[in-house]
Amino acid sequence: MVARRVTGVPLEQILGWAEFYGLRIVVEPGVFVPRRRTELLVDEALALHPETVVDICCGSGAVGAALARSIDGLNLHAADIDADAVRCARRNIEPSHVHLGDLYEPLPEELRGRVDVIVANAPYVPTDEIGSMPSEARDHEPRSALDGGADGLHVQRRVAVGAPLWLRDGGHLLIETSVGQADRTSRIIEQAGFATRIVSSDELDATVVVGVVLPTENTPTTGNSDSGKRVESG
Ligand code: GLN
Repeated sequence: MVARRVTGVPLEQILGWAEFYGLRIVVEPGVFVPRRRTELLVDEALALHPETVVDICCGSGAVGAALARSIDGLNLHAADIDADAVRCARRNIEPSHVHLGDLYEPLPEELRGRVDVIVANAPYVPTDEIGSMPSEARDHEPRSALDGGADGLHVQRRVAVGAPLWLRDGGHLLIETSVGQADRTSRIIEQAGFATRIVSSDELDATVVVGVVLPTENTPTTGNSDSGKRVESG
């Protein structure tokens, strides 16, 4: 184990678990290691007292596992595009509620318009900055868990645009970001039809943008056939 650690394999992947929110989260080789900073995402979600939560880009499922442990009877669903992550998450949360696929695409249809809170620690590292991450991340975590495209915000954009379809009226979208990207993450979420606030923790070195979906505008005088759409552009 020491020899593997010396070569740069993350401690959590060697031990097979990470401490997160006071829990032991199973972490398999090649799966994104839950960061302590992401506990802020859990705290902010808990403060909303949700009954139905979707953890999108769930990785090991750490965020959902922490929420499920803290909320009795939580209806939790999680999704990830990476098959290794999904297999790992199925060891941390109810396996039948972990879905393999691109963002919202694999979620059960009955969740549409019913979700209280969507949480996302989507990849947000700009492509050019991956090279300056520690070897633990660069060499032992999947690129798809880190690389957020040229500005780091590509996946967050798609998470935000897709969220209103799944959220109930007044539902929330919470996205982890970096302090330097927080204003841009906020704008992205606002453009998708939310009011936002930025929450930071110095202790955890963490930043989360919290969005609440704005009510759809009523346009009773027009017989607009698009009226079922939850979010208008602009
Ligand atoms: N900067 C983040 C970290 O290593 C990257 C994780 C992510 O993209 N979600 O904690």
